[in-house]
Amino acid sequence: MGRAFVYVILGGGVAAGYAALEFTRRGISHRELCIISEEPVAPYERPALSKGFLLPEAPARLPSFHTCVGTNEERLTPKWYKEHGIELVLATRVKSADVRRKTLLTATGETISYKILIIATGARSLQLEEFGVNGSNAENVCYLRNVDDATRLVNVMQSSSGGNAVVIGGGYIGMECAASLVINKVNVTMVFPEAHCMARLFTPKIAGYYEDLYKAKGVKFIKGTVLSSFEKESNGKVTAVVLRDGTNLPADMVVVGIGIRPNTSLFEGQLTLEKGGIKVNGKMQTSNTSVYAVGDVAAFPVKLFGETRRLEHVDSARKSARHAVAAIMDPGKTGDFDYLPFFYSRVFTLSWQFYGDNVGEIVHYGDFSGSTFGAYWVNKGQLVGSFLEGEQKKSMKR
Ligand code: FAD
Ligand code: NDP
Repeated sequence: MGRAFVYVILGGGVAAGYAALEFTRRGISHRELCIISEEPVAPYERPALSKGFLLPEAPARLPSFHTCVGTNEERLTPKWYKEHGIELVLATRVKSADVRRKTLLTATGETISYKILIIATGARSLQLEEFGVNGSNAENVCYLRNVDDATRLVNVMQSSSGGNAVVIGGGYIGMECAASLVINKVNVTMVFPEAHCMARLFTPKIAGYYEDLYKAKGVKFIKGTVLSSFEKESNGKVTAVVLRDGTNLPADMVVVGIGIRPNTSLFEGQLTLEKGGIKVNGKMQTSNTSVYAVGDVAAFPVKLFGETRRLEHVDSARKSARHAVAAIMDPGKTGDFDYLPFFYSRVFTLSWQFYGDNVGEIVHYGDFSGSTFGAYWVNKGQLVGSFLEGEQKKSMKR
């Protein structure tokens, strides 16, 4: 059993949605493009899952946040894919790939062949078990990567209203989920190993501002330690979190955000890997000329920094996907991807944006007792990074 397409996108997340839109803009025929996704829904704006999706009132739900509404473009519903003759193979995991034969084998036993493959498999959440702690499968321990996780998190959060949540990890998921839990009237304690939240990006001064605001909202911080085990009821439900320093925190629910790993396993031994991702050139082309990689899974040359990096942010997923399609369909006119890294987050009424790289000397500016401030990073005499708080007021929805 098998089907053949000119173009196949493996993965149905943010990058896949933006690539599909770009394909149609550049002109493809019906039945030339196929998207295969393990998720049961068409590509959507993943950032909504830790923001609008978790709001207690008028929460965002599909189909409202299918790609590409995040950039105020068309909303690609399943009907849109149908009308454009794009084959959407949902709820289907690809279990092996053969780049020499140009085939993918699905868990349902179908072989799908391609002329050009775009790998857009994104990443998976790191599990506590990978740090030697058991209990991820308890009914009140939540991760957040896809819409199923988000639906589960909402259910657990609603049944924990007025109770206690322990949030493990002080990164993006930790910070955004902690804010959402507070808005949903759950008491939050955040636990992370570093000296302050968002340690890889925030300066101590910026982190101090955020932590003070979170504390004013009732959030407690336990820093410099990690989880060591769970206490559970006989039915497996977690009732308390035990930290390495011996602290025991009663918990009605736990949210875990301890980082991700790119989904590269199908291609290990077949394509060149770097920085934990699939290595591509400035055209997003891998070590096999018929295979491209985009989004979280791709390690690409960032011209500005003169080195290969893997970025885990939505703007880079959108733009790298579009660039790959341009390079595939119009190679003569498409140069190397020239990308200025951009990240953002929104929590409570706060909203920050970051451009560039956070290396070198830090220069803070603005009013840290108000709500508009930021920092510049200066490296070797050049401005390389810029953090701005309070410069935009977009909706929390996505
Ligand atoms: P994904 O969107 O993860 O899509 C990968 C897809 O591939 C998934 O559908 C997956 O099921 C599928 N897949 C994987 N393996 C297989 C397989 N073997 N077979 C079939 N299908 C497969 N970034 C920001 O810049 N700002 C934000 O505010 C922000 N918020 C976020 C909030 C949350 C909750 C999360 C999880 C991420 C957030 N991000 C944010 C990061 C951003 O969403 C990612 O960088 C982006 O989704 C990456 O896009 P992608 O297409 O590479 O991967
Ligand atoms: P992050 O990498 O942002 O943060 C993980 C955090 O967990 C770090 O503080 C890390 O510390 C800490 N940590 C690691 N191991 C442990 C442990 N054993 N116990 C406690 N803490 C630990 O990952 P997230 O999980 O927060 O986010 C997942 C993905 O989703 C990322 O790709 C992120 O970019 C994306 N995302 C982006 C958003 C945005 O851009 N606004 C919003 C939500 C998600 P250390 O640094 O020491 O490893």
